[in-house]
Amino acid sequence: MQNVKLLIDGEFRSSASEHMIDVTNPASGDVIARVPDALAEETEQAVAAAKNAFHSWKNVPVTERARVMMRYQAILKREQERIAKVLASETGKVFDDAMGDVWRGIEVVEQAMNAPGMMMGETVENVARGIDTYSVIQPLGVCLGITPFNFPAMIPLWMFPLAVVCGNTFVLKPSEQDPQTPVLLAELFMEAGAPAGVLNVVHGGRERVDQLLNHPDIAAVSFVGSVPVGKHVYQTATANMKRAQCFAGAKNHTVVMPDANKQHVINNLVGASVGAAGQRCMAISVAVFVGDAQQWIDELASAIAEVKPGVWDDKDAGFGPLISNAAKERVLGLIQSGKKEGATCLVDGSECTVEGYEQGHWIGPTVFSDVSTTMRIYQEEIFGPVLCCLCVDSLDEALAIVNDNPYGNGTSIFTASGAAARKYQSEVSVGQVGINVPIPVPLPFFSFTGWKNSFFGDLHAYGKQAVRFYTETKTITSRWPEDSIPAGPNLTINLR
Ligand code: NAD
Repeated sequence: MQNVKLLIDGEFRSSASEHMIDVTNPASGDVIARVPDALAEETEQAVAAAKNAFHSWKNVPVTERARVMMRYQAILKREQERIAKVLASETGKVFDDAMGDVWRGIEVVEQAMNAPGMMMGETVENVARGIDTYSVIQPLGVCLGITPFNFPAMIPLWMFPLAVVCGNTFVLKPSEQDPQTPVLLAELFMEAGAPAGVLNVVHGGRERVDQLLNHPDIAAVSFVGSVPVGKHVYQTATANMKRAQCFAGAKNHTVVMPDANKQHVINNLVGASVGAAGQRCMAISVAVFVGDAQQWIDELASAIAEVKPGVWDDKDAGFGPLISNAAKERVLGLIQSGKKEGATCLVDGSECTVEGYEQGHWIGPTVFSDVSTTMRIYQEEIFGPVLCCLCVDSLDEALAIVNDNPYGNGTSIFTASGAAARKYQSEVSVGQVGINVPIPVPLPFFSFTGWKNSFFGDLHAYGKQAVRFYTETKTITSRWPEDSIPAGPNLTINLR
């Protein structure tokens, strides 16, 4: 049985902790590895290694730091399949989806390769006679990343490549449910030439996280996970005067207008709702049908019912199991609540099993119609392959529903009308909007801009905003004295 390693000061080492947590294959229920709840002193060593490495790493030219990212990108591409297989074994994702998880992370590394251009400051010559002002951006110090189970490649890669290329050092605390993927990413990062201490990895739960959030040597915290933990992380980090960005849960709506292309809607909503077993923060979990579009619900439900769950290398499988038995029980409880509260269950995945994998955490595709906004299935993030369908008479009513929802991660509209699309993009209070695109996850030269309860903080992940998050601006005003210096002291605040 493999014990997942810590990475401290360039060394992959076994933890001395006696508290080990099982990592299971969600399709079979088999324990495939054990991950330590690291000791407090090991966590301390990781932060100390990062702090020490910062002194030299921040002075490594940005071009050289970018070249580490270039090598890393090439290695990740070379190893994409190997990473995807490890990822599939511990998340249950089907292979193509596991490859996608890695690929969307590689795209962020590609953004990090552009660091020199992104780290340019500004200059104004002659702000006053003989005086120039210019700004430079500098790294913060040791940054911390706390990541969720559902994208064990992409989300760590949202964080440490950009933090590190900006000149910071990093401590990563991945999800204990699938830690082998992030540790493999760290191994490959060392192979790319990252010096010891620049990236460190520790494992554990609340106690380790709290130790890091209260640590005086951590400058900034990036978190992705659920709302309650996100709030706790944001409050603790900011109470300790740290910079924080916390990406949290979601309830993403799509609005289907009656003038949309029906086949396009159905093709896209199938994958957007049940792909990855609905365990995506940008999954579409609510479809709001406007007017006559509600006549398409039965056809959509039939198309969704066709998707079969299965194991990662089953080419006919559309998605895999849920991550854990606890996650499955939660989703089953919500499906039950939907039935009890009067929604119509058009497709019921609660009795799902996969032959040969009876111990897996399976839930089949599930579709509810006649859903109202007071039901638990509407109000709570389900994080399972469950789509809730609501019907309204107008785009204004659809907008009111979406805007009343406390989450604001992503949304989409399907329509043939430019005017409807423009009204929707302008009036919807959600941070990422798709127009005839179901899951609008921006590429990394933009930023990942969730709103409301889906995000606590100011500056978002990747893109220009991440560079601002991981750096501090320093503004310099300089004069090189010449003969024309005015005589006498300057007793005002004005430059002259
Ligand atoms: P989670 O909140 O349970 O765990 C996230 C991280 O926090 C893990 O590293 C975990 O070990 C740690 N953690 C768990 N409990 C903690 C506690 N009490 N104190 C301190 N740390 C704790 O989330 P998850 O179940 O791994 O991930 C699923 C959630 O993540 C969903 O809600 C999903 O919407 C959200 N998510 C959001 C985004 C986004 O960009 N908004 C992206 C992916 C996932």
